[in-house]
This record gives sequence, C-alpha cells and structure tokens, in this order.
Amino acid sequence: MKEIGLYIHIPFCHSKCFYCDFNSYSNMKDKFNPYVEGLLKEFEIKKELLSKYIIKSIFIGGGTPSLLPIDEMKKILDYINDNLKLKKNLEFTIESNPGTLDREKLELYLRSGINRISMGFQAWQDYMLKEIGRIHTKDEFIQNFKLAREVGFENINVDLMFGLPNQTIEEWRETLENIVKLNPEHISSYSLKIEDNTIFARKYDEGLLKLPSEEEDRKMYYLAKDILTKNNYIHYEISNFCKKGYESVHNVIYWKNEEYIGVGLGAHSYINKTRTSNLIDVNEYIKNLKMGNRIEIVEEENHIKDHISECMFLGLRLIKGINIYELNETYKVNIEQIYEKQIKKFIDEGLMKQEGQYLFLTPKGIDLSNQVFMGFLIE
Ligand code: SF4
Repeated sequence: MKEIGLYIHIPFCHSKCFYCDFNSYSNMKDKFNPYVEGLLKEFEIKKELLSKYIIKSIFIGGGTPSLLPIDEMKKILDYINDNLKLKKNLEFTIESNPGTLDREKLELYLRSGINRISMGFQAWQDYMLKEIGRIHTKDEFIQNFKLAREVGFENINVDLMFGLPNQTIEEWRETLENIVKLNPEHISSYSLKIEDNTIFARKYDEGLLKLPSEEEDRKMYYLAKDILTKNNYIHYEISNFCKKGYESVHNVIYWKNEEYIGVGLGAHSYINKTRTSNLIDVNEYIKNLKMGNRIEIVEEENHIKDHISECMFLGLRLIKGINIYELNETYKVNIEQIYEKQIKKFIDEGLMKQEGQYLFLTPKGIDLSNQVFMGFLIE
C-alpha cells in the first residue's frame, strides 16, 4: 500500500504576528467547536480516499494548533487513531507556540501518538519578540521547551527567524548560541520576507521598518550555518538543520514533491498528480461542511512538465540535491536532456554542481536560489 503524508490545518492564533500572511485568525474562540466538527466531517468525506494509503507522517499545523482546548484537540486525535492506517513509528508533529502550551495538553499529545513538537520561537530578545508581534517572552519559551522534554518529547523543532527589523548580527548570534544550548533535534532558520497584507508590509510601505541589508541578511544566514554545523546539526535543506536522523519526514515529502492529503481550512492536497485546495474563509468552510457542500475550490491536474519543474526547484532546496537517476526512473524522462541548457549554464556560473547522480546548489547557488529555481520552469 502506498504511503503518504497528512496535513491538518488549525487556523486559530491568539493574535496575528506582524510578519504573518498564513491562513490564520485571531479572536475566534467561538469558532473552535464548529471548526473541529467541520474538520471531522471533512475526514468522513475523505475517509475512502484516506483508506487507500498508509500515513507515514502527520503534521498538525496552523495557525497555532496548541491554542485548541484539550477536549477539541482530543476529538481530532481520537479520530486519527480510530480511523486511519498509521505507519508504525510514523512522524507525528504538532505546531505550537509558547504561551499556549501546558502539561495537560502536552500529555494528551504524547498519549495520542504525537511524537514531535514544533515550537515557534523566532528570537531570543524579549524586545524583538514584542517588535514582531509574538505573544510570549523568551522565558515562557524556555519553560515550555523544558516542560515538553519533561513530559517525554524526544523530538523538538524550534523555528527561528533572522533579518528582523533592527536586528543586529550579535543578537542573531545570541539567539543561535542559546538555542543550541537547549539542544533541540531540529532547527528551522528562515529569513524574514515582507509579505503583502501584513502589518510589516504596511509599515514597510510607510518607511517605518529598518531591515538589515541584503549583505547583513546573508551574513546572518552563514552565521546560522556556521554555529549550527559546529554544534553537530546537519544542514539538510536551505533553511533547515537537524541532528543525525531527525530530518523532518513531513517536509521532505513536500521537497520531494510526493503525495499528501490536506484536511482543514485552505489545506492543499496532492494526489494522483492532481492538486486541490480547500476554501479559505473559515465561516464558508464551516457552513459548507454543515450543509454537505464541497469545500474544495481548486482542482487542477498537474501535467508531467509541471511536475518535473516542481521536482527540480523543490528538490534543489535539499542540500544533497536531486537524485537524477531516481527522477528519470520514476517519471520515465531524461532530466539531463530536458534541462541540458540550464544545467550547463548554472554549472558554468558556479551555481550548481553535479556529482554522480546528484545535482545540487553550491553556496553561491543557494544565495541566488530563486534565480536558479526560475530557470527550471518549463515554458
Ligand atoms: S503564531 Fe504563527 S500562524 Fe499565528 S500569527 Fe504568528 S506566525 Fe502566523
């Protein structure tokens, strides 16, 4: 039986972080129960589809899933355990934010099979957390992290961000050095992007955001790489680091362009070369499920050329790169022929390297990754 990933979206947050354009809502406590009821209905609709697969990874993301009260989260977890075919030792992650976790929730997660916690943290300095709209302090993060360990979580990811307004390289160093001392198994380290329709986008347009320069941003990227690899973290994806054996199974599904099913508001699925996505308005989502209407808004078949393009630019995010032989075998194509010009150009420019069957970005290629990814779009 084929293995896939399952994504479950919980779209609620305590308040909106200033940089966030995710599909998440604040101040919606009254929607917790109807949303979960809707989610369970969607699971029922997708029951037959789900029964065709073994789930190798589950990611409950958001939003802030840890904001859901215990009784609501328990309904979702019970449904999963009672109805889905789960792979033995699957990776089962929940996203959380400090300030929304407690012992009771963590114990429920662990008891229900969740074996990986992903914690949004971002920066070590309390003033910085406030400036980017986070609801917690550094101490709350440390308390939650230690509590998760105490309860028994042996696989924790911490999300960090650099290139933040007014952030200095020394502050970024302080963040990295202190996180390393806590010894999480996985660290994501993303550069801030100013996304449309966020508080930061408005401030940026008004000239009120002082961001580090491009050069400083790159220095921060390499500082993370330096500190983390010196502390035994493997740099396995452009923005992700882990201890040996702790690569995120779920994220690798996306980077390898494999199949997954998404459940929840705005969730995407990719099955049988067809991409679908759900409604993005929470009220519409709840209402449609209540009335037994469709909640999928987009359905498009991926042509083989789109799929190959995606495999290229997603796969190149992995530091190990793309296994050309594997791609050729799986899709009965000849990557070196299809992309002959691009591969030659990027190798000549020092952006890419080929070693045996692997094609991967060089450090210069990582710095200019968007340019390389664009090159692999097939007209
Ligand atoms: S906690 Fe996460 S999803 Fe929620 S607003 Fe902040 S960044 Fe967005």
